[in-house]
Amino acid sequence: MSTPRSVKNIIAAQRTQEGAGVFIWRSLGGQALPELDPFLLLDSFGTDNPDDYIAGFPDHPHRGFETVTYMIHGQMRHKDSTGGEGLLGPGSVQWMTAGRGIVHSEMPEQKEGKMQGFQLWVNLPAKDKMCPPRYQDIDPADVPTTTTDTGATIRVLTGTANGVTGPVTDISVDPLYIDVALDAGGSFSQPVPAGHTCMVYAFDGSVEVGGTHLGLNQLAVLGDGDEVALTSQKGGRAIIVAGRPIGEPIARYGPFVMNTEGEIRQAITDFQSGNFL
Ligand code: MN
Repeated sequence: MSTPRSVKNIIAAQRTQEGAGVFIWRSLGGQALPELDPFLLLDSFGTDNPDDYIAGFPDHPHRGFETVTYMIHGQMRHKDSTGGEGLLGPGSVQWMTAGRGIVHSEMPEQKEGKMQGFQLWVNLPAKDKMCPPRYQDIDPADVPTTTTDTGATIRVLTGTANGVTGPVTDISVDPLYIDVALDAGGSFSQPVPAGHTCMVYAFDGSVEVGGTHLGLNQLAVLGDGDEVALTSQKGGRAIIVAGRPIGEPIARYGPFVMNTEGEIRQAITDFQSGNFL
C-alpha cells in the first residue's frame, strides 16, 4: 500500500527583483519559507516583457551549494570563471555544482519574446561543500519525455518517473525533478521515498495535489508519505521536486551557503582577495 502525501502548506510566490533588476517570483528562500532542507531557493521567472528580464544576472559568485536552471521558454547565456560558457535554450537544464566556488553570469540572449523557467538552489552536505565546481549541461533533446494513458506528459530532469530516468546524475541529495503537464481531467502518481522533502509548483493552469487545489505561482509543501498524486480538472503544468534532507546547520549569506559563520567569513575573504577559485 502506498501512502499519498497531503499538502502541508501553500506558499504564494512573491514578486521580487534579483540580479541587475530581473523580476522573478520567489516561493522558497524568502520570508515566508526561508529553506526546506535540502532546498534553499526556488525562483520562477516568466514574462514576455523584456524590461522584466533584459538586465540579466551579471557576474556573481556561489559557494557551498548547487544552482539548477530549467528553461521553459527563451535563451540564457552563461559564462564562468573556469572558462565554461554555454547557451541554455528552451527545455534545457543546467545543474551547476558550485562547490568551493565559481563566479558566473547568466544573461538573456534575446531582446524580445517570452522568457520562462526556474532556478532552484540545492544544498550540499559539509563533505561536498568545497568540492571542485562542475556542470551538467543537458540539451533539450536529452531530457526524456514520457506519457501516460491518464493524460500526463512528463519531462524527467533527474530521478525516475514512469520508468524513465533523467540525465542529471550523481547528486548528493538523490533528487527528483520532473515537469508534469496534465490534460483536463488528467492524473499522475509519482513515487517519492518516505522521508524525502517534496514540493510541487504550478506554473501553467492549475493542478490538484492530493485533492488540494494549487493555483498559478503557488508552491505546495507536502507532508510525508511515499507517493504524490496530481490531478487537474482544467489542465495544468507543475514541477515536482524532491530530495533527501541533509540535516546539518545552515549558515547563509547571499550566494554563500555553508555550515558555520566562520566558513561564511572565509568565503567572503576568499572572494574579496581573489582567492576564491
Ligand atoms: Mn548564479
